[in-house]
Amino acid sequence: KRMEENEMKTYQMNNGLTIPALGFGTYLSKDGEEVYQAVLSALEAGYRHIDTATFYGNEESIGRAIQDSGIPREELFITTKLWNDAHGYEEAKAALQDSLDRLQLDYLDLYLIHWPNPVQLRNRWQAANADSWRAMEEMVEAGLIRTIGVSNFLVHHLEELLKTAKIIPAVNQLRLAPGVYQTEIIDYCKDKGIVLEAWSPLGRGELFSHPTMLALAEKYGKTVAQIALAWSWSQGFLPLPKSVTPSRIRENLNFQDILLSEEDITAITTIEGVTGAYDPDNISF
Ligand code: NAD
Repeated sequence: KRMEENEMKTYQMNNGLTIPALGFGTYLSKDGEEVYQAVLSALEAGYRHIDTATFYGNEESIGRAIQDSGIPREELFITTKLWNDAHGYEEAKAALQDSLDRLQLDYLDLYLIHWPNPVQLRNRWQAANADSWRAMEEMVEAGLIRTIGVSNFLVHHLEELLKTAKIIPAVNQLRLAPGVYQTEIIDYCKDKGIVLEAWSPLGRGELFSHPTMLALAEKYGKTVAQIALAWSWSQGFLPLPKSVTPSRIRENLNFQDILLSEEDITAITTIEGVTGAYDPDNISF
């Protein structure tokens, strides 16, 4: 049975629009049958928010799944991202149009700058982001995008962007998971009403053998994935769990009734041994 649309919690964004508080991740879900079936399973299970990126190379198959699901467009929330090779005013406009074409959509719900400081722009990332952002603002005006945001931006990247931005980013998508807590940028975004999306909310698999996570899963009678997602909500984050396995896709929706104690939340926040965020000013791509 499909989950009713109004059963999914939403967050309010700083532009007044709402966003489903859980999204479906698609990184490394292979273009073609794999990601097509995964997205169909997710939509069937009740997800309404899909997270992709031009870099993932799977927008076309995701577009097909969206079409074939038969779900009305206005019930869906679709995000994609501007890749590192498409920064600039004209380039960003062209990249967005290409994404819309591959996704077979007239508009995007959310478009993000994927990384703040790509290696090929290392000496001029400030101007690159400003130019891309200006194009994105115009595409909001033109009705091609509802909401714009960023990903992997730290405080200094946002401060720089805000010098020229007319629209404050509504979302920052960051690596956030049990044991991966980026205090400074989290506090900054909360202060500005910027929704924090959590990428790799399951620690990319690293959590599944962690003793603290296993003990808490046992205590609450849930799975490690479900505990991690409940923790994400306890922090006000918007997790984007990825799976291509229908049973896990369903499992990752079924955490919404978990109420973690304060003590357990602290224990989860501070677990050790999970790979942290990359330094966006030193990435090699
Ligand atoms: P994730 O933390 O969602 O972990 C996914 C892994 O966990 C997969 O290998 C999957 O097999 C496994 N898994 C999923 N559910 C499970 C379950 N219930 N039980 C056992 N194993 C399970 O990692 P991710 O894919 O890196 O991140 C999620 C999404 O975040 C991505 O798909 C993508 O949409 C987004 N993302 C964004 C960025 C960015 O730079 N903005 C970077 C990475 C990922």
